[in-house]
Amino acid sequence: GTSAPGWNFDNSYARLPDAFFSKQELKPVEAPELVVLNGPLAASLGLNEQALRSDASIEVFAGNRVPEGSEPLAQAYAGHQFGHLNMLGDGRALLLGEQITPSGERFDIQLKGSGRTPYSRGGDGRAALGPMLREYIISEAMHGLGIPTTRSLAVVTTGELIHRLEELPGAVLTRVASSHIRVGTFVYAAGALSGEHLGALADYTIERHYPEAASSANRYLALLEGVANRQASLIAKWQLVGFIHGVMNTDNMALSGETIDYGPCAFMDSYDPATVFSSIDSHGRYAYGQQPKIGAWNLARFAETLLPLLHEDEEEAVNLAQKAIEGYMDQFHAHLLSGMRAKLGMFGEEADDEELIGRLQQLMQEHQADYTNTFRSLTLGELEDNQLFGSESFKEWERSWKERLGRQPQTEEVWRALMRANNPAVIPRNHRVEEALEAASERGDLEPMHRLVAALANPYAYAPEQEEYASMAACGVGKYRTYC
Ligand code: AMP
Ligand code: MG
Ligand code: MG
Repeated sequence: GTSAPGWNFDNSYARLPDAFFSKQELKPVEAPELVVLNGPLAASLGLNEQALRSDASIEVFAGNRVPEGSEPLAQAYAGHQFGHLNMLGDGRALLLGEQITPSGERFDIQLKGSGRTPYSRGGDGRAALGPMLREYIISEAMHGLGIPTTRSLAVVTTGELIHRLEELPGAVLTRVASSHIRVGTFVYAAGALSGEHLGALADYTIERHYPEAASSANRYLALLEGVANRQASLIAKWQLVGFIHGVMNTDNMALSGETIDYGPCAFMDSYDPATVFSSIDSHGRYAYGQQPKIGAWNLARFAETLLPLLHEDEEEAVNLAQKAIEGYMDQFHAHLLSGMRAKLGMFGEEADDEELIGRLQQLMQEHQADYTNTFRSLTLGELEDNQLFGSESFKEWERSWKERLGRQPQTEEVWRALMRANNPAVIPRNHRVEEALEAASERGDLEPMHRLVAALANPYAYAPEQEEYASMAACGVGKYRTYC
């Protein structure tokens, strides 16, 4: 017989006041088939990979069968979409419950694409295979890069077509997250519910993600500062690898500090702060260079919800909130600067470091140099024959950089190792992601995706077999566009 899958649910979110969710019946699909299962992630969750490949488990991943201990629910939340406040909620997702791992950690197990809910508005509640595989690839790549992120346990097809601009194969992604509490969950609680509900949510969030805040003199201020700290660190990591989230609405900012909601995200090719991939971001609100500021904007929306809890005097509450957001900005800059120093092999601190970093960015932009590969080449000390490396201004910059490195006591071996640990040799290049998705969705060929995911699992390895994934798209492919 097959062994048990190992589900071990304890559903704390379902014990919050009713207003935070709607319990849901499943919306079964026609003919589920497993497309991809994340073995290592399953193991870390205390799940049995073999059992997860059984028909019964595939029914679970498709939303056809409730696993033991699960209490399916759709979460309620609001969100500022491109700045405009809307009531949202899980319109195409179901929280199955919280898996407690063998080491006692708690993770949300969520189905995405699982059918309509009370929050679906005009939508069909469904998802297409391409975007679900895209989330799988990029979230796992982010994990490989060492960036806090939700993860992907499985993708199944539904055997049904969904209607977009064309008919597409339907799919369900199983997403694993520290939680799905968002800035938008607080926005919803503060706007639509009573103060009691807000307090319950804040206490719940502290207990789940910021237990150290509970013993602070002002626990809600400690919560705000904790969230701000994690966002400063997270968004600095995005900037350092050239990740563009694409849709940083307040419903897409998780209070756990994980990257969440891989819709129109993509990695920047040539360095330009104005880079936008999302087809719906026509004003560049969520461009690469805007992300740190948008982080502050979202934190301000979060802080607003907490004002009544921060201090009984409103003016004092606003002061505390503003200080926390200034703190976010300062910390972001500190993380970014130390991360950039590491990317350039620089130990210690010199007054001119920021200027040196800024000049390289300027040169990359001027010469439309590939962001990832510029750092990769500097790391390897192999400067190919390109416009940037061939320029006089770069050679001047390189001399200053080498002088800076020469003033530190660390040997070349040591500073090159620092660079290798901070400059990925491979990222999910847009053309490689597209190629893998096309093979999977159009020909049912999963080989390119598995090879890509494997190459992205260890992006700092600089292994020879990864090399093919480092090359840029051939010229003339046109501007890359992403869709939600
Ligand atoms: P997102 O842009 O992915 O953050 O989604 C924004 C909101 O739209 C969330 O409330 C989603 O649940 C909802 N949504 C997205 N796609 C669909 C769909 N196909 N059907 C119903 N709701 C959807
Ligand atoms: Mg979302
Ligand atoms: Mg989305």
